[in-house]
Order: sequence, then C-alpha cells, then structure tokens
Amino acid sequence: MAKALTDRVSEDVAALASATAVAPTLAVILVGEDPASQVYVGRKIAACQKAGIISREHRLDHATSQTALLDLIEQLNADPDVHGILVQLPLPKGIDAGAVLDRIDPAKDVDGFHPVNVGRLSTGSDGLVPCTPLGCMLLLESVIDDFRGLNCVVIGKSNIVGKPVALLLLDRECTVTITHILTRGLQDIVRTADIVVVAAGSPGLVRGNWVKAGAVVIDVGINRIVDADGKQRLVGDCASEELGHASALTPVPGGVGPMTVACLLANTVRAAKAQRHVA
Ligand code: NAD
Repeated sequence: MAKALTDRVSEDVAALASATAVAPTLAVILVGEDPASQVYVGRKIAACQKAGIISREHRLDHATSQTALLDLIEQLNADPDVHGILVQLPLPKGIDAGAVLDRIDPAKDVDGFHPVNVGRLSTGSDGLVPCTPLGCMLLLESVIDDFRGLNCVVIGKSNIVGKPVALLLLDRECTVTITHILTRGLQDIVRTADIVVVAAGSPGLVRGNWVKAGAVVIDVGINRIVDADGKQRLVGDCASEELGHASALTPVPGGVGPMTVACLLANTVRAAKAQRHVA
C-alpha cells in the first residue's frame, strides 16, 4: 500500500510539474544528532527523491537556539518555493517544541501538528492530517468497508498518534475509547474492540487473549529490543505471534512506518497544490 501511494504521489508530482511548472518542495529540519531521528529523516528524504519531491535539508547543531530555529522557520514560511516544513521531533532539551510547531505556517504544516490543523481535525473540517494517523486510516480502509458503529479502542493518547487517530475514527462514526498508561482494566476494554490501534511504545503489550476473534489490529509501536541471542530487533506493541485470530494485523517493521512516510509525501503534494490553487 505504501508503494502504491508513493506511485500515485509521483504521478501527481509529474502532472503538477507539467501543468504549472511547480516542483513540490519539502524543507526538513533536524536539530542535533539523535540517531533514530537521523534514520527517520534519511528515510523521508530518500522517499521524496523517489517520488520526485524536492527536499531541502536543514541540519542544525544541537546547541542551536530556539530563536535561531524560529528565524529559520519564518524564512521558510516566507519562501514561495517551499511548500512543506517538517521539524523532526524530538527537539533537544531547552527548545520548546510547542512554540516551534506553532510558528510553522499551517498551510505548510505537512505533519499536521499546528494547532490550526489540530482544530480542523477536531471539528471535522479540511486540513493537513498527521501522517501516522492518516496512514493508519488508509490501512483500515483497505480491510473495512463500513466503519459506522464499530467499537474502536486506541491505546495511547499522544498528540502525534493516539488523539488524532481517535478523532479520525470518531469522524467515521465509530465508538471510540481512548486509553493510556493509567487506564484501569485495559484488557477488558480492548476485548470489546472491533478495531484496536495501539501506539504505546510498550513491546508486546497487547496479548492474544486481549483481542477478540476477527478484530483488526493496527500496531503503531516501534520498539528496539535485544532478543535472547543478544541481537537487536524492532518489535511493535503487540505480541504478534499470539494474534492469529485477528482478521488483520500490521507488521512491525513494515506496516505503519512505510505508510507514515508515504503520507508525508502525499501531504507535501497536497500542500503544494493548495498553495498554488491547483485542484
Ligand atoms: P508517547 O510516548 O508520546 O505516548 C505513548 C502513550 O501510550 C501515552 O499516552 C501513554 O499513556 C500510553 N502508554 C504507554 N504505555 C502504556 C501501557 N502499558 N498501557 C497503556 N497505555 C500506555 O508515544 P507516541 O509518540 O504516541 O508513540 C507511541 C509508539 O508509536 C512508539 O513506539 C513510537 O516509536 C511509535 N510511533 C511509530 C510511528 C510510525 O511511523 N510507525 C510514528 C509515531 C510513533
């Protein structure tokens, strides 16, 4: 699905270029040397190249001041050749991520984290939707025709995944329960779910006996663990080997992660079209 979406984005990029000579451009800002962030940024830039989107990298020293970062964002906001701005999180200590995200022009906010886009999502109006939740919805739509009335349990209430995915499900007229680390009786709540979306960052949290037969499970978690023979590997938040009775389960790695990157590309082209008033 991620490949199909990326292919569609490439076609859109080509059509936009021939109709308007606009080349969708994404500015990616990375502050500091966090190894996981470097990997994620590298993947996003490689994906842009594949789809024909221009990426402009801004790699800043970890000691960069908040003021300097805000100045860079202002410059990019004002640059008509930049259509999307992504600030890789987490930011180093001492920089207020909220203040930084608030400074991005909502029209260029391809991560969908600006309060204006968050507000649009919560009122069900048109805006840029965060990439991971958008990817989760596309995955769900590939196996579910009618969402109305389904019971959904979202595990995790972050602004990046849990809350926006819950809002998207609510918008599809699901009955949504948002749970978190202090939720009581989590297993019993998850057992009621037709759809489980887990974004907790807790390896193997969702066990086989938590999930009813036929449920659809989206595993957003990405956890690096060391297994019995000392090898590092990535696992999700589900005990996936126990979930054979689910009707669908996303793998980790290779499920929500690639969809997130593909949705970033889609959001960038969407932002470029909107800024150039192309339907
Ligand atoms: P976060 O730390 O901001 O939030 C985690 C949430 O899970 C919190 O609300 C917390 O209360 C809840 N939680 C933690 N442990 C729990 C438990 N044992 N039971 C119930 N709730 C629990 O994390 P996040 O940014 O939302 O990310 C969550 C996970 O998703 C991480 O593993 C992250 O790496 C992964 N992630 C993956 C992608 C992707 O593209 N696949 C994107 C974003 C995040």
